[in-house]
Amino acid sequence: QKPVPSDIVISRSCVPKPIDRLAREVGLLSDEVELYGKTKAKVQLHIIKRLQKQPDGKYVVVTGITPTPLGEGKSTTTIGLVQALGAHMKLNVFACVRQPSQGPTFGIKGGAAGGGYSQVIPMEEFNLHLTGDIHAITAANNLVAAAIDARIFHESTQSDKALYNRLVPLSGEQRKFSPIQINRLKKLGIEKTDPSALTDEEITRFARLDIDPSSITWQRVLDTNDRFLRKITIGQSPTEKGYTREAQFDITVASEIMAVLALTSSLEDMRQRLAKMVVATSCSGEPITTEDLGVSGALTVLMKDAIKPNLMQTLEGTPVFVHAGPFANIAHGNSSILADKIALRLVGPEGFVVTEAGFGADIGMEKFFNIKCRYSGLRPHVVVLVATVRALKMHGGGPTVTAGMPLPKEYVEENLELLEKGCSNMRKQIENAQHFGVPVVVAVNAFKTDTEAELDLICDMAKAAGAFDAVRCFHWAEGGAGAVALGQAVQRACEAPSNFKFLYDLDLPIADKIRIIAQKIYGADDIQLLPDAQHKVELYTKQGFGSLPICMAKTHLSLSHEADKKGVPRGFILPIRDIRASVGAGFLYPLVGTMPTIPGLPTRPCFYDIDLDPETDQVNGLF
Ligand code: ADP
Repeated sequence: QKPVPSDIVISRSCVPKPIDRLAREVGLLSDEVELYGKTKAKVQLHIIKRLQKQPDGKYVVVTGITPTPLGEGKSTTTIGLVQALGAHMKLNVFACVRQPSQGPTFGIKGGAAGGGYSQVIPMEEFNLHLTGDIHAITAANNLVAAAIDARIFHESTQSDKALYNRLVPLSGEQRKFSPIQINRLKKLGIEKTDPSALTDEEITRFARLDIDPSSITWQRVLDTNDRFLRKITIGQSPTEKGYTREAQFDITVASEIMAVLALTSSLEDMRQRLAKMVVATSCSGEPITTEDLGVSGALTVLMKDAIKPNLMQTLEGTPVFVHAGPFANIAHGNSSILADKIALRLVGPEGFVVTEAGFGADIGMEKFFNIKCRYSGLRPHVVVLVATVRALKMHGGGPTVTAGMPLPKEYVEENLELLEKGCSNMRKQIENAQHFGVPVVVAVNAFKTDTEAELDLICDMAKAAGAFDAVRCFHWAEGGAGAVALGQAVQRACEAPSNFKFLYDLDLPIADKIRIIAQKIYGADDIQLLPDAQHKVELYTKQGFGSLPICMAKTHLSLSHEADKKGVPRGFILPIRDIRASVGAGFLYPLVGTMPTIPGLPTRPCFYDIDLDPETDQVNGLF
């Protein structure tokens, strides 16, 4: 076997075809495509109307066993599979993947464009600014943050009348409410359109949001791993007259606006979601929304280009949509509904769309079904569950490793005993997929140190656990040619009977929905709602948010809440520390333990290796 060069060397060795050519090949019309240079383009949403009558293709979701620091290769398998289906089996295909955050790119993780001979190219474009969607989210998110604190400040320094006269300026004949203000009047039940007709009591209600500063859940964001922003004090300049408060930054991909982008189905729907986001509670217990702040129209303007999916390609010239990249813990960790929908229409009934769900099947896949599919109405035909020998060995009790350290011998020499034990995790994740009634194909992503006996063992155990099929694949080393067997298995599985169902009913009480996920998916005995969580159950039920789906914020490194418990932990009670609401995106997220929402930089971050070659304009050292 030839050695496989580094990801960047492979990526550079391939000249991407001009993106307008790819766009034509996949059936896009020129007025539906906005070019961003030669290798990226955005697709306009009016294409959905043109393709209204076109039947959807087959919908495949890629997920994995419980992740380990050894890396399982979900992104690599997503790309390898579409290369196999498209470039080798000559079927219409699309991969739909998330846009990575720049924080980890410069920090510890490196890129997310796949690896080896299964990658999205050019990987520098993919991993850096792309077409600016994440920057747009940062701008929109921080406009909301600025609006909240400015509003509290202005309300605290002005009388009701003065505030009202500034919100609805006195300019003679011209004095009128803006459309957003009319929405607020409607919400308050004030049926008046003449600003001078409001009573004093109505003026007070209209002008004062009366935000309780301790209830603010909206944070500022930045797409940088800047750990010193985890806790900050704002308003320290004397111009803010002593209005200081403790606040924090999150990484941009953790913003609710990112989740809105991923879950929206149209511009109109995005406008509504951006208006519904709850940022705080008033002193009298009412939810305060972005519409109350008057900012939702401006947010839609900032997001109008970000909503269009980004077209790129794989190393083998098959199309990829890169669109949205919500955090997989406090959000749902899946790429956009719009990209999946457009891709399904473009590939047609015989084609395949392969979309990837973040983290393991207990997190990304569960949320894919219960949140993303609920909002999109799309029903997947097949689940591809990625497993590797080395990760399963860790689940079987192999030594813990951290990124960059040499692998202990357990992972590079045959050890069937450890592997067999670790297959318990794969078995549980197969069962988790089966809860949704969709056939499962296990993709055993082969590493060069894996032995025949090890690869066979995983396939046998997967089939015994009820997988529709289990195949070994070599797309990392061989590109699409190494995943043809996987492609064929997926094609067969798409014809198998499928009986899709959600795991829980939205009308159930909040605690019951959490309990169902904890017991059925994680294998917990029960849940324990700690006092803050109990309080939020009552608050959200009272505020009318009780029927939203649940987005668990739990460690991805274990089926339980304790990251170091590998395999299939049993006999545990899942503690729910608190619950938050992303009302615009459309889910409640229970916090199981503490979730870091902005990563830090290690002592030697990836940026040490990154530079620009001024001669060639090439980015060096990205990976
Ligand atoms: P995930 O999506 O599960 O996080 P990725 O697909 O991003 O995993 O892969 C993680 C890393 O592992 C990448 O650097 C990739 O190049 C590498 N990798 C994936 N599959 C293989 C393989 N079969 N052999 C060697 N390296 C691999």
